[in-house]
Amino acid sequence: MNRQPLPDDLDGMLRRLHLPTVRRLHPELILRAEEEQMSYRTLLEVLFTEEIAHRAQTRITRSVRKAKFPFLRTIEEFDFTFQTAVRLKMLGSFLGPELVTEARSAVFSGPPGRGKTHLAVAIAHRAIQNGFGARFTTADELIGDLSRAAADARLEDALEPYVHPHVLVIDERGYQSYASDAANVLYRVVNDRYLKGRPMIVTTNEPLAALGGLLHDGDLGEAILDPLLERGSHFVLRGRSYRIRHLDPEADDLEPEAA
Ligand code: ADP
Ligand code: MG
Repeated sequence: MNRQPLPDDLDGMLRRLHLPTVRRLHPELILRAEEEQMSYRTLLEVLFTEEIAHRAQTRITRSVRKAKFPFLRTIEEFDFTFQTAVRLKMLGSFLGPELVTEARSAVFSGPPGRGKTHLAVAIAHRAIQNGFGARFTTADELIGDLSRAAADARLEDALEPYVHPHVLVIDERGYQSYASDAANVLYRVVNDRYLKGRPMIVTTNEPLAALGGLLHDGDLGEAILDPLLERGSHFVLRGRSYRIRHLDPEADDLEPEAA
């Protein structure tokens, strides 16, 4: 049965209160407090500050795992002197909480290797640091998943993981041809998120004008882009591919199409 903790069973009580960091640190900190004649108040503050910091870190680790990023890249790792079509300042409102609170969507287009996925991941990662949840998916995965669900009449349930997260990244790699109802399911995701005021970060290797063709439906293609761009921005990345930056500029033509 649930034993009441004994008064001196500090370890057991901290376990019961789910304070693992206080539990781990308090013996050493109490010794230090005695040595340094730390006030009781300071001792408590240090212990709880550590507990909160550790909890925040645990949450970030868990959220990053849930987001399913293909790789982890941060905005600090992006070389804006190499990719000059976008400046850090232009990305300001995507890196703060207003990304989510004001539903600022962003579309990054441009040829492969220009840093589209890097920036999308970095923005979503920053949102996680700001306390939000994020999910990364490819257009291929999302369309395949939802087309199968629609065929089995379970689209509503299948939409949930794409509509629920505060931030959704859709990475379009531009070389596959999509299912015939691609535009329909994509429209559902974009529209459901729009109605809930939740932002999206979309990357595409295609110029936006080509998106309708790719999705076999020009009108729906526009209906998908409109809500994204209404409160969002479109960045066209250009310049040379970062992947082959060490090669001769002429060699850009040799770049493989895979993103
Ligand atoms: P894209 O999605 O446009 O095809 P990626 O974002 O996948 O390109 O970039 C390819 C690789 O090059 C990634 O490892 C990315 O981190 C790196 N990269 C691209 N552009 C930059 C940049 N300006 N600064 C630093 N790394 C970059
Ligand atoms: Mg990419």
